[in-house]
Amino acid sequence: MKKYDIAIIGGGVLGNTISYWLSVLYDLKICVIDKENDVAIHASTRNSGVIHYPFYLNSKTKKNFARAAFLSHRMWKVLAEEKKIPWVQGGTIEIALDENQHKTLEKYMIWGKENGLTEDEISILDHNQIKQKEPNVNCYSGLYCAKEGSTNYSLLTHAVKELSQKNGIDFLFNHNVDHITELSDETDIIFSDKSSLTSKFVINCSGGNSLDIAKKFGLLEGYSDLHFRGEYWVANTDIANLVKTNIYTVPRYTEFPFLDPHWIKRANGETEIGPNAVPVDSPESYDSFIKDIPTVLSKITDIVTGSAKKLLLNPEFISLVSKEFHSSISKTAMVERVKRFIPKVKPENFPKRGTSGIRTPVISPNGKFVSDMIEIDGKNSFHIVNYNTPGATGAPAYSAFVIKRLQKNGILDSSIKRKNAIWDFDKII
Ligand SMILES: Cc1cc2nc3c(=O)[nH]c(=O)nc-3n(C[C@H](O)[C@H](O)[C@H](O)COP(=O)(O)OP(=O)(O)OC[C@H]3O[C@@H](n4cnc5c(N)ncnc54)[C@H](O)[C@@H]3O)c2cc1C
Repeated sequence: MKKYDIAIIGGGVLGNTISYWLSVLYDLKICVIDKENDVAIHASTRNSGVIHYPFYLNSKTKKNFARAAFLSHRMWKVLAEEKKIPWVQGGTIEIALDENQHKTLEKYMIWGKENGLTEDEISILDHNQIKQKEPNVNCYSGLYCAKEGSTNYSLLTHAVKELSQKNGIDFLFNHNVDHITELSDETDIIFSDKSSLTSKFVINCSGGNSLDIAKKFGLLEGYSDLHFRGEYWVANTDIANLVKTNIYTVPRYTEFPFLDPHWIKRANGETEIGPNAVPVDSPESYDSFIKDIPTVLSKITDIVTGSAKKLLLNPEFISLVSKEFHSSISKTAMVERVKRFIPKVKPENFPKRGTSGIRTPVISPNGKFVSDMIEIDGKNSFHIVNYNTPGATGAPAYSAFVIKRLQKNGILDSSIKRKNAIWDFDKII
């Protein structure tokens, strides 16, 4: 049986950035395990590709995501420049459609500053100023952040993987973690094909499956998750340049920010609208055709247990599901939402589907969506669950925090060797 010091489950952006830090700071035997045949097959490729800057993140309830996104911005930029990966800093306008939503933008200005942004990085523009900048956008006001933009997180993840591999990390593809046997000072990981390995320590960052994997370690028993597929539509060339900036809207329901589609300028030059939020029954149901939300929800209700069941029994949630999620299925409904701020768009301007992705928000034992990521220590393991948006933006800095935490807990030595690295660990920490 192969033996490792550290086994990382999950070869998405998070598993790769963690493996990279370990590879530059330690001489340990480390592997990254993934059930697919390459890295970044799931959320780390199937996302909006937006480089977020944390003006819109609650500085208290989302402080880890906010700090990580703030610090990672420059780190990704350095790697993108070095590897010639597209990096388009075209800015984002988060728009308010009425006075009430404008108050949310004022709150974002406060959070933005608490999260480290300066006055010249974010500003509120009134209706006329937005019209001057983007004549085809209709709104009451908007918060402009010049630092946001777009990149390709798949290419960035592959670049990090190559750096880790050069530093000696093993990548074990087509290895689907099936079950776990915890011994007193090591863990046996058993795969679906019955092969196995042993590791002294395990880091679980398996995206939409991370709660299931944590449960295999006997952790987070009272928690559940739901999966929402986000679909995109690609704009044809006639209207793709109608608006040059990313346009986000103040969420109508703060607990469900994913219900409002955005106008996204992709790093490859395309423009898309999306994502919507279609409830699906697994973290990888990318293509199943859904025409009837109540049926899907009843199927999900049949299979969910614990806190997700509590949430599904909540009348407020159910009413939102039937009203909002139902309308989010069709392209016409999505275009209608975008029309509220870009009136010139029509359904026929979006002939092609983009690549869908699946979000997996975690639900606490009392039936509420959890806002920040969940970090939990096992006997010889560490688990990161609910690592959702803007997780791709924040991955390099967040991974450094993970290393620091493992040092503090005595899992990793703090007198570390340093190989030449693209990012400076001490500066981030
Ligand atoms: C629709 C959508 C839009 C988004 N937009 C943005 C955005 O614009 N900007 C941004 O910053 N963030 C965005 N995000 C969030 C971001 O993409 C994620 O936070 C990030 O990619 C999560 O990375 P990860 O490594 O945790 O997960 P993943 O990339 O999903 O990686 C997890 C890996 O674990 C593997 N795995 C799972 N189970 C097993 C098993 N049993 N055995 C072995 N391997 C296993 C999977 O194969 C997968 O490769 C978006 C997400 C979605 C879904």
